[in-house]
Amino acid sequence: MTNTVPSTVDTAVAYWLARYGAADADAAHLLVDRHDPTAAAFISVALDEAGALVTTPITYGELADDSRRLATALAGLGVGTGTRVGVLMGKRAELVVTLLALARLGAVYIPLFTAFATPAIEMRLRGGGASIVVTETGQADKLTPIDGLTTIVAGDTGVLGFDTLVAGSEPLAESVAVGGDGHLILLFTSGTTGTPKGVPVPMRALASFRTYMRYGLDVRDDDVFWNAADPGWAYGLYYGILGPLVIGRPNILLQAGFSPEITAKVFAELGVTNFAAAPTVYRSLSKTPAVDGFGLRRASSAGEPLTPDVIGWARTALGTEVRDHYGQTEHGMFINNHWADELRAPLIPGSMGWPMPGFATGIVREQIAIDVPASPAFWFPGYLDAPEKTAARYTDDGRWYLTGDTGRVDEDGNFYFSARDDDVIIMAGYRIGPFDVESVLITHPSVIDVAVVGRPDELRGEVLEAFVVLAEGLTGDDALETELQQLVKTGFAAHAYPRTVHFVESLPKTPSGKIQRFLLRRRE
Ligand code: ATP
Ligand code: MG
Repeated sequence: MTNTVPSTVDTAVAYWLARYGAADADAAHLLVDRHDPTAAAFISVALDEAGALVTTPITYGELADDSRRLATALAGLGVGTGTRVGVLMGKRAELVVTLLALARLGAVYIPLFTAFATPAIEMRLRGGGASIVVTETGQADKLTPIDGLTTIVAGDTGVLGFDTLVAGSEPLAESVAVGGDGHLILLFTSGTTGTPKGVPVPMRALASFRTYMRYGLDVRDDDVFWNAADPGWAYGLYYGILGPLVIGRPNILLQAGFSPEITAKVFAELGVTNFAAAPTVYRSLSKTPAVDGFGLRRASSAGEPLTPDVIGWARTALGTEVRDHYGQTEHGMFINNHWADELRAPLIPGSMGWPMPGFATGIVREQIAIDVPASPAFWFPGYLDAPEKTAARYTDDGRWYLTGDTGRVDEDGNFYFSARDDDVIIMAGYRIGPFDVESVLITHPSVIDVAVVGRPDELRGEVLEAFVVLAEGLTGDDALETELQQLVKTGFAAHAYPRTVHFVESLPKTPSGKIQRFLLRRRE
């Protein structure tokens, strides 16, 4: 069986590419104004003091009106076409209103994750040349140490209080149409491999976001859709905020931290049918019976490799398989185990699937790569102020974009992730991906988290070293080290066992939860 795309899909994608890429494309129209003002754009869910869920729809009408008024206020503060503005807020209506107000002005939204401390915020604001930040009361203190900022605060009643500005401003009459190449967002990558890189997101990217919502996630009109990812990062912003606005189907915005119990409550009370989240979410759900027996129609995972234990768990616990999807901040999701009937194929163990319509992919220099001339949906415009980093992403002839992730493709065109290029361990000539070894170690009942890196070795080039976090109350010893080494020898490969196992309290991770192996390699 080979994976071919039916032409009706091609027609839809071509239509979206033309629409969102047009020279006069207008973000405010496409994201909000064209939708029924009485329809729910999002479902806001908060917990009251007794722990009960309080559900409030956010309508397109409210978003349209509030964003027109905020746009007028922002224009009064000097925001215009191309001005970059930081947004430091959790999942609330004001975040969407700000995004849309900026879109009306042709201005650019810089997402700031609410778990960031001041230096991470400052780096992004300075990098983007932003001097205005829209924030909320619980976050505003982190901005005080940064000089020269104007801050608008949601939940504050002062002069620059969000509600005061909205209530005191007339609706902006005309929105600016920035067109397909105009920038909507400036989003920094996760910083898993080093300093985060700034990625400008043009209007035309909405075509690929729509394609993923429709074919990757298969969000239908009768679905209750919940993308639990945070809008401070690509997956949560592209497919939890922009994607839902583009297709006109609401996402759930949960104003509470993650826990399996709250997740179970939202599943049951809102009747979620279509769920998307990072592998860590599925992994922690799988460690408790909280959501067992809840039947979902669709479940999707992205951002990191999906470990096989989760796939096995989900089939029985969630009543559906979890499908692995692959992408990057630089162009969103583009290799998926697509859910839509038109594109669905049976899951192949270990595969992330095959290219999304609009993208052609291959393996070049062992890396997963995008064939740029053959990919009309490709939209990455290059990193902000980093031409050398941008150039390093392409082959010399400019044809291929190199993801920096190694992988392979089988004869039917299914892609497999093996490792980030920097993380590949070369031991005595063998190339070993840390993920393969980690997948085996995590199956040990005492292990709750694990990372494997290469350590320089005179004889073999590199040898493997494992960093293991044990379940609460357990301590590591030589016997457990030997047991874990044995597990890898029998469960994966005799040569690829870790020479050393370090038992640690926690692993270095990005704020979005990705393991930063480069910091473990640097450890003396
Ligand atoms: P930085 O580029 O700053 O080091 P980052 O690459 O982690 O950070 P993102 O753009 O958020 O920043 O993440 C994209 C990367 O996440 C991919 O290049 C890949 O390494 C990993 N990834 C995403 N989805 C998957 C998946 N389904 N399976 C395996 N890896 C994935
Ligand atoms: Mg990256």
